[in-house]
Amino acid sequence: MELFDVYPLFDINIVEGKGCHVWDQNGTEYLDLYGGHAVISIGHSHPHYVEMISKQVSKLGFYSNSVINKLQQQVANRLGVISGYEDYSLFLINTGAEANENALKLASFHNGRTRIISFAKSFHGRTSLAVEATDNPKIISPINANGHTSYLELNDIEAVKVELNKKDVCAVIIEGIQGVGGIKVPNDTFLKELREICTKTETVLILDEIQSGYGRSGKFFAHQHAGIKADIVTVAKGIGNGFPMAGVLISPQFKPVYGMLGTTFGGNHLACAAALAVIDVFEKESLIENAANIGQYLIGKLKKYPQIKDVRGRGLMIGLEFEESVKELRKKLLFEQKVFTGVSGTNVIRLLPPLCLSVEEADLFLNKLENIL
Ligand code: PLP
Repeated sequence: MELFDVYPLFDINIVEGKGCHVWDQNGTEYLDLYGGHAVISIGHSHPHYVEMISKQVSKLGFYSNSVINKLQQQVANRLGVISGYEDYSLFLINTGAEANENALKLASFHNGRTRIISFAKSFHGRTSLAVEATDNPKIISPINANGHTSYLELNDIEAVKVELNKKDVCAVIIEGIQGVGGIKVPNDTFLKELREICTKTETVLILDEIQSGYGRSGKFFAHQHAGIKADIVTVAKGIGNGFPMAGVLISPQFKPVYGMLGTTFGGNHLACAAALAVIDVFEKESLIENAANIGQYLIGKLKKYPQIKDVRGRGLMIGLEFEESVKELRKKLLFEQKVFTGVSGTNVIRLLPPLCLSVEEADLFLNKLENIL
């Protein structure tokens, strides 16, 4: 059987990882400034993570959600404290798309409305709902284009007010920092006003922190830089450091009803062991502080290169915008300098390294970048 060929692949077979480094099958070492698309939060093959998952799988890998799984409550307690959302409830699933699907479903149950407001160039996963604001027509399927979603310009609060004052909008969904759309950071004042107008019009505010959350921005959630709270927060990627897991953080105003949401794999024993190991390492190694400090250091250094048109982002979610397409530059970084990076659109290199990146590794990246600039 062939693999269904829907995304281009580099001809590199990565077989091993440690911290911010990975190795291919020939033993060639690469510096990982992409973290498997923001998934690797605590670093590859962290010993504590390996131990926790190994111990759990040797006892029990999975049992159904028809019985109590105390590990889920432990994840909820620890995540509540570390995220500052202690009074919220947690629903566990497996992927970011699932988290957003469930968030929208909850919002719609809550206020009975169906319209969704999203923002141009935002990305919320491959969901069946119309929540993919993209200018790539290839990924808007007919079912996505069902007319329920309006895409507004990011930071245009007046346009948001016009729509929300119609009082028929179910939810506004927004990324803490736009990842796929070019590392665009919503203004703090925009987020504050968005919070206010959502409350006033009883519209649910959903913060998609799937890429920008879990410490990446230098705070647990990127929207916390603006000092606001969302009604629903969606998380995935970094929560399991590679183990597929996602969560929906739900405000106390939403009342659970049996049958409202459901899942087979969500919050399984192995996923919970992974999530608990991740939080242990976050706390022990102060990874959120590290993301803030190393991010500030990297951004400061990168801003000095005249070849780079703009450096954007927060913490270890950084976009380097160039005048022209970065396709060749990224290939050179990978094949000549042995550094993994990502892209956003055509002109932006996207950096999403593990949050344990050291100053030495940041300098190593800067040297390698300089070699090809
Ligand atoms: N939301 C954001 C902001 C994302 O960046 C992504 C994935 O890149 C998703 C949702 C979808 O997550 P998943 O691929 O786990 O479904």
